[in-house]
Amino acid sequence: MIQKLFNFLFKKTTAPRVVNVTTLTRSEHHVSRKHINPHALKVLYRLHDAGFSAYLVGGSVRDLLLNKTPKDFDVATDAKPEQIKKLFRNCLLIGRRFRIAHVRFGHDIIEVTTFRAHSTNDLAERAHSKLGMLLRDNVYGTIEEDAFRRDFTVNALYYNIADFSIIDFTDGIADLRNQTLRMIGTAKTRYQEDPVRLLRAIRFAAKLDFFLHPETENPIYTSAKLLTQVPPARLFDEFLKLFFYGHAAKTYVLLEKYDLLKYLLPIEKDTLSEPMQALVMQALAKTDERVSEDLSVNPAFLLAIFLWHHYVAQQQLLREKRLSPQLASHQALLFVLNTQQLPMGIPKRLTEIIRDVWSLQWRFTTMNKQNAIHVSLHKRHRAAYDFLMLRAAIDTTLAETADWWTTFFASEEDAQQQLLEQLPSVKKRPRYKNKRKPRESSDRLPRTGQ
Ligand code: ATP
Ligand code: MG
Repeated sequence: MIQKLFNFLFKKTTAPRVVNVTTLTRSEHHVSRKHINPHALKVLYRLHDAGFSAYLVGGSVRDLLLNKTPKDFDVATDAKPEQIKKLFRNCLLIGRRFRIAHVRFGHDIIEVTTFRAHSTNDLAERAHSKLGMLLRDNVYGTIEEDAFRRDFTVNALYYNIADFSIIDFTDGIADLRNQTLRMIGTAKTRYQEDPVRLLRAIRFAAKLDFFLHPETENPIYTSAKLLTQVPPARLFDEFLKLFFYGHAAKTYVLLEKYDLLKYLLPIEKDTLSEPMQALVMQALAKTDERVSEDLSVNPAFLLAIFLWHHYVAQQQLLREKRLSPQLASHQALLFVLNTQQLPMGIPKRLTEIIRDVWSLQWRFTTMNKQNAIHVSLHKRHRAAYDFLMLRAAIDTTLAETADWWTTFFASEEDAQQQLLEQLPSVKKRPRYKNKRKPRESSDRLPRTGQ
């Protein structure tokens, strides 16, 4: 009853949206089925043959129009999840409130979503947090409504398998031509609904080399703090998308520009010293280079670089308190890698790698036989050595050490042994220098009660 009254009172009174629909026919665009993932085509055709409408949507249409290779191929349809499931044996419905179909072809997954609407009067269906964050958005809708709930205009283009046309409800094609990233609707509200869109704006601007439309750009500064409301695990997922798809250096510069980095990592704008900034930029360039060469990248390595300044500062503080290098290193890394302190959640398997890479650094530079043997036998010596090399590239005082290790790792076992023999050996300090003297009676605690 209360709900009904609420709905009645707050019934949407705004005028219906005026929508300019642009359709590019088959001959008016260059997207060819040759470039579409065959599994996605299979899904599209099967839906179409069963009498449903079926479209390729999102990043795949955008990237194909830009002659880029799409990362994944998503399908949107008017078929309901249960209807999709009936059509595909290899289909799994995921998500509790809004169900998405995952159609599996070995390792390849085609995500199929039923058209969803963005706005509804039914407050039971649409829930917001106090800050305007959209908690649930689970109402089915028309294709047009589906377009308007998407984030950017260039992400809301639909490739229709029925006639191979591309349908555009939000002027996305014009934006694509003008290399503009523009949020659908009022950007401030859309950031409020889902603050991750702030990071997505940066990600697409970097990836596509697009400008941010002023109406999309301006509210970034005032909306940024909403990122503190995002669960740490979702921030980490977005971090991976930001830095490990080949545009890390550009992404970093943009995150710095809009002062968004601090919501992912403890790095305040303009606070990194010049050498630390150089170290970060070098690691980002290296990451992009590896991605472009299709080589593996471990997020732990870049994270170790991003957090290094923090660790060094902490370690120095502890050394000033006269802690040994080993103890200072240990305590500093416990402090910096304390996940409670970090804005985004870093999985344990990664913090363990970071810990190893860091704790090997002082051993690399404290050259003695024992340390060298410890390093050479350590399972992460390779990553730690790569880390040392990046440090050496910006710090000339490390040149000699770096050269020694480069020679060492390039040598055969015999030669390695000889190199080790040339290093000074640390003599174990005897526990007691002299034979323990019997304690003087004055050392003893005064006896009581006598
Ligand atoms: P990528 O090339 O990185 O995969 P993408 O555009 O395909 O880019 P996805 O994260 O795969 O991005 O999302 C697929 C589509 O879903 C987007 O293109 C967009 O239309 C929609 N979408 C995803 N996340 C959001 C969001 N937070 N808010 C609104 N729409 C979203
Ligand atoms: Mg995608």
